[in-house]
Amino acid sequence: MTTENKLANESFSFVDAEHKILDFWKNNNVFQESLAQTEDCKPYIFYDGPPFATGLPHHGHLVASTLKDIIPRYYTMKGYYVQRRFGWDCHGLPIEHEIDKSLGMSSQQAVEKLGIKGSSTTTLFFENCKVPVSNMLGKVGDGGPIAFNILYPGRYKLGVTTCAGAKYILNRSLDFAFEREQFSRSISNFGMIKNKFANMVAMSWESDSINYMTTGSIDEGISKINPKSKGYYAGVQKIIEDHSIEASICKIVGSEALAYVVDEGLQIMGGAGFIEEYPMAGAYRDERINRIFEGTNEINRMIIGGYILKKSILEEIPIRLAIQDRLEDWLVDSKDIDFIIVEFCRSLILNISNHLILEYGQDLKNNQWILEPFADMGISFCIIDTCYKRFQALEDGSHKNNTYKVFQLTLANHYSSMSNNAGIILNYTKNSQMKKKINDCIKKLNYCPNPIKYKQNIVKDLYKHKKYYLD
Ligand SMILES: Cc1cc2nc3c(=O)[nH]c(=O)nc-3n(C[C@H](O)[C@H](O)[C@H](O)COP(=O)(O)OP(=O)(O)OC[C@H]3O[C@@H](n4cnc5c(N)ncnc54)[C@H](O)[C@@H]3O)c2cc1C
Repeated sequence: MTTENKLANESFSFVDAEHKILDFWKNNNVFQESLAQTEDCKPYIFYDGPPFATGLPHHGHLVASTLKDIIPRYYTMKGYYVQRRFGWDCHGLPIEHEIDKSLGMSSQQAVEKLGIKGSSTTTLFFENCKVPVSNMLGKVGDGGPIAFNILYPGRYKLGVTTCAGAKYILNRSLDFAFEREQFSRSISNFGMIKNKFANMVAMSWESDSINYMTTGSIDEGISKINPKSKGYYAGVQKIIEDHSIEASICKIVGSEALAYVVDEGLQIMGGAGFIEEYPMAGAYRDERINRIFEGTNEINRMIIGGYILKKSILEEIPIRLAIQDRLEDWLVDSKDIDFIIVEFCRSLILNISNHLILEYGQDLKNNQWILEPFADMGISFCIIDTCYKRFQALEDGSHKNNTYKVFQLTLANHYSSMSNNAGIILNYTKNSQMKKKINDCIKKLNYCPNPIKYKQNIVKDLYKHKKYYLD
């Protein structure tokens, strides 16, 4: 007799066999054991749907549910943590609320904002929220530095987006200025309007240059790490951390360039700028947040000033040798006046840094009256140095010539701002010796920039291109 015939004759009961298997699972706690064993594994969530059309389940749903259960079973076998609870929901907010509650997450209602109304903003709370071991980004208790490190890329990204916004608004303001006539002329002919456009071009270009320098330097650092090495991600993290000062500079320069461009763009539109029908009113509200989030610009100035001093004192940046080099000789010999000015500004920031290290040490972070002008000197020098190198790296031709006209304005503005801030610091700290040294240098330099001429040249190029033209 074959096995099949024997089974048939013994009246095999599928139902009994099923019960036996179920009893086995129940008595040995098989399902709970499988959950306990995989509790720390990567979770797998199977989003079923759509829900029962009538809102009420019936026997017909069992076939589909059993078939669909193959997928969670498969992932359990693959070692994932799959809770597998049979049930149904109404896919509505009450269910989401229950889920949030059980996960330890809660939020408040979205807040009404001054601008960026297209995004929803609310506070999220995580209380006793369970995180699977496989989702941990480091050791328990080390989350703070990881969260702060996220802010650095956020800051240079904000530098890039605000810079793009500034160029966009500049172009739209220009369109308006060409169209609008007053006193029988296009308003683009008026000197005060041209002045605004020249400043817009220079500030956008400065922000653009700082962004390229920062992201290029990060890229270069990362390209030197082997992506297959064990410490790849830690290495990337370290490089991002090493660019914390640059990230803050990107954020401040970009957000303040955009603020200027939008404010003056609205002014160029006159009354129309104040009318909701025109998009400038929205831009005016939307740009305001950029000086607040990702660390307010005050906090970022604290980071710039504080970190420069801290990293110098701890010799994390090789500034001591540079200071030694410039203690006596502040001026360099060259036929290139721009290079001489850039190097004078370098001497200025190095000697002011040295003075503040000796005067305050790390305690400077508690004296914001000094920290702020010092941070502004750091920002200005970063702009001057970066823009000079960018200009130098360009191939000869019309783009380089156009860029030079903007660089002249940038150099004049930031040289003036750095000298002014150095004076403010030295008056306060009563360092008359260094003040005298600066004045002597300025006399020797005999640098007489002509910002009005530079701006006229810039605007000529801008009007010829009819849009931002330095990309
Ligand atoms: C629309 C929107 C979206 C946001 N999105 C996020 C987000 O996705 N994630 C997130 O984590 N946060 C987010 N935030 C929060 C945002 O990062 C903070 O609002 C911002 O960092 C400022 O903090 P605060 O509001 O507590 O201001 P406060 O810290 O109370 O600052 C108030 C004022 O005091 C100044 N100040 C504070 N401390 C100092 C100091 N030591 N020295 C000098 N001046 C100081 C500030 O510069 C500011 O001018 C968002 C905020 C808004 C409005």
